[in-house]
Amino acid sequence: MEKMTGIMAGWLIMSATEAKKDYGFVVENGKIVEIVPNEKLLGKEGVIDARDSIVCPTFTNTHTHFYETLAHGATEPNLSLKPLLEDFWWPVVENRQTLETIRISTEYSALESMTSGVTLCNDILEAPFAERGKRLLTEEAVIRKAGMKAVLSLESNERISTENGYENLEENKNFILKMRETGNSDIRGTICTHTTFSCSTPFLMKAAGMARDMDEYIQIHMNEGPDEDKCCVDKYGMTTAELYKKIGFWEGGKAWANQCSCMEPVELNIMGQMGVGISTQPRSNALCNAGIAPVADMLKNGIKVGLGTDNGEGNFYENMRYLVLMQMGKNYSKHALTPLQGFQIATEGGAFGLGYTDVGCLKEGYSADFQILTGNAAIQLTEKNVVAEVFWRKDPKDIKKVYVNGNLICQDGHSVNLDDERIRKDFSECVREFWKGQPYQD
Ligand SMILES: [Zn+2]
Repeated sequence: MEKMTGIMAGWLIMSATEAKKDYGFVVENGKIVEIVPNEKLLGKEGVIDARDSIVCPTFTNTHTHFYETLAHGATEPNLSLKPLLEDFWWPVVENRQTLETIRISTEYSALESMTSGVTLCNDILEAPFAERGKRLLTEEAVIRKAGMKAVLSLESNERISTENGYENLEENKNFILKMRETGNSDIRGTICTHTTFSCSTPFLMKAAGMARDMDEYIQIHMNEGPDEDKCCVDKYGMTTAELYKKIGFWEGGKAWANQCSCMEPVELNIMGQMGVGISTQPRSNALCNAGIAPVADMLKNGIKVGLGTDNGEGNFYENMRYLVLMQMGKNYSKHALTPLQGFQIATEGGAFGLGYTDVGCLKEGYSADFQILTGNAAIQLTEKNVVAEVFWRKDPKDIKKVYVNGNLICQDGHSVNLDDERIRKDFSECVREFWKGQPYQD
């Protein structure tokens, strides 16, 4: 396939707040080197002609679990988070993961992500009994073949045993070091632990110290619904964010908290001051009885916010709209979170929160990670309304092509590098086998 050297776009969306008509860009070594009017690119070798299309940045899914796609078709019990984990997710799903289920669910999630315009995923794998030392490498092999970007980590807690938790922390550390050897951050690791009810404070402090020693991100699940704050207040006499502050967990400026749907004002204040980033999962929170996160208040506190799905599948455009609509409803205001803010969170906001300074915009110096969308619109598009039009009315079916580092990875809903047909067949066989003889099927 001819190497792309640039693109001419009908509309070029450079970021949530900047769009230009009849502009394109020049690409060298996978990076955007210049934004130029289309006429400067006309007739040049390797330039894609998308003058009938809208070209915009791809999305970052800042919190997902590829393996959760295996719960496809299962019915979760109607419980709050802690009993839901104890009765369902831990024994029925996570403890039964193998390298094979990890590979198949990662392949399926990669397809689902790229066909939804997502090219960077922050995945947390929870598989305490799958073969040690190979779990993250199994995911990495799939993501690399797909041509996508990812931050991959293994959840480490003490619910099986403290020893199991430490082994998982060690696998994260080894993976971080191995990925650093590649010389780029297309696939990275982080240190990852879990919650204040599945980990002791010495374990959490050890994990945070490990991340600081490596100058790496540390991530947790936090306050997914009201259970964790309640447990923390009962056990430690303070909220979750206050406990983390007390044990020095937030020190270092590279902490990333996933969920945070039930937050006290004091917690948002602390996390804003300590430079903690948050991934919010509006759709998943609603489905899991976890409430609606105070995203508008997070932004007011200066917190970096990203958008996640919690599950390796689904329509990311839809998730982006849920994010904004739920904030409008929760705050009784159309202005609580605007479409442009929602688009910003789904693109550069999330990527930046995870430490990427060259992902999520189409500007000089950024990676050429972009999607080509159908250019049709019922309204007259202008520089002022084109982002909102994409936000409200585009969907995965409108994505014609997806590129990462200037390489085509997805075209007309099909992966360029993965065998879609074989993967979808393997996935459905795996799901059927996984749930054979199990309850939770109605
Ligand atoms: Zn999660």
